[in-house]
Amino acid sequence: MPLFHRTEFVAQSSSHQYASMALGNSAPIEDVDAAARSFEAMARGQKPQGNPVYGRLHNETVAQFEEAVACVEGLSSAVAFSSGMAAVTAVLLAASNRGDEVVAIRPVYGGTDHLLCDGLAGPKVCWAEADEVADEVGPNTALVLAETPANPTLDVVDLRKLVDRAGRAPVLVDNTFATPVLQNPAKFGVDLVLHSASKYIGGHGDVLGGVVACDAQWAEELRRVRIATGGLMHPMAAYLLRRGLSTLPVRMEAAQKAAMRLVFRLVEHPAVDEVYYPGLGSDETSAVVDRQMDGPGAMFSFEVSDFDVARSIMESVQVITAAVSLGSTDSLIQHPASLTHRMVDERTRDECGVCDGLLRMSVGLEHVDDLWADLTNAIDESLANQPGESTRTRINASSFD
Ligand SMILES: *Cc1c(COP(=O)(O)O)cnc(C)c1O
Repeated sequence: MPLFHRTEFVAQSSSHQYASMALGNSAPIEDVDAAARSFEAMARGQKPQGNPVYGRLHNETVAQFEEAVACVEGLSSAVAFSSGMAAVTAVLLAASNRGDEVVAIRPVYGGTDHLLCDGLAGPKVCWAEADEVADEVGPNTALVLAETPANPTLDVVDLRKLVDRAGRAPVLVDNTFATPVLQNPAKFGVDLVLHSASKYIGGHGDVLGGVVACDAQWAEELRRVRIATGGLMHPMAAYLLRRGLSTLPVRMEAAQKAAMRLVFRLVEHPAVDEVYYPGLGSDETSAVVDRQMDGPGAMFSFEVSDFDVARSIMESVQVITAAVSLGSTDSLIQHPASLTHRMVDERTRDECGVCDGLLRMSVGLEHVDDLWADLTNAIDESLANQPGESTRTRINASSFD
């Protein structure tokens, strides 16, 4: 995990502190002209020139978190927001100056899918297959957007090809699943690297936040949007998230190790039709994973026979927590068709592999043997409790009444 050994990242840790303004959410002003100049700089999206004036314009704790994220993603800047979705929204608003269309590759996080389809943040969406991106990109393209590994199918997008196919259009990659420990999209020319910090960066399932690593020019635009719309990261969240970054490499290593062991056992399980995990796919995908990731991560999904069995497994686990979200110390399991991808219509879900029998799992830090015992018990119990084939057909038929 080479990036985290960078001396500048380690050096930052010792100076990390919770900094609030002397008067709570505003700073005392002694020199009005100097404060006015600083205010103006911040309104343009620049850093404060001395006085930070007001908490919506600048916060030092948030700035420290941003600096750390920029450093581990290998980019010059980062801008933090109140949530991952606030970060996605800010990028769409900032990008809308450049064009009125976003070219996006499915699947993406259900909330992102919903926001893009709604067009609420400005640009309309054009969904493209990864290898058709170049055909869709034109002078009106504000942004090319992809997630890799993708939520919830763990589809992998070749970053080098993506950047190439996007041409002059800026590229945003949601790097939430991989984390900066396993993947740095900027190495392949990606312009904007987004994280739902609520997930692995926070790491304990108790904070919400989002962050976009980018160059200085994008950072100015994103800060302008943040000042205008107020989707701020709270300083307390920034403090916890900065602390989370320090343990991210060891958490990822441990969770990934357990995930790999569960995946290799699950592929052998007779009730499991398919397991999705980066690197398990074709030789071609494995080559992409090897090139752009330092490991397959700690998220996987698997497919069982149908909706009812999947739902029942989610309801039967005891050690694993049945919950949405991911990247916590606790292992979490959820049923995308019922929960995270509920807002995506059924046909689209099927087309991008989010089928009814799919379960998504985020592996945490419990002992792998406990996780395996819990998972297999839940699977066995769910199969045993299913009505026989004829009864099930009857139930399904009657639901159309
Ligand atoms: C959770 C998530 C988001 C949204 O982040 P919030 O912090 O919940 O707003 C975006 N992308 C991915 C991949 C996610 O898992």
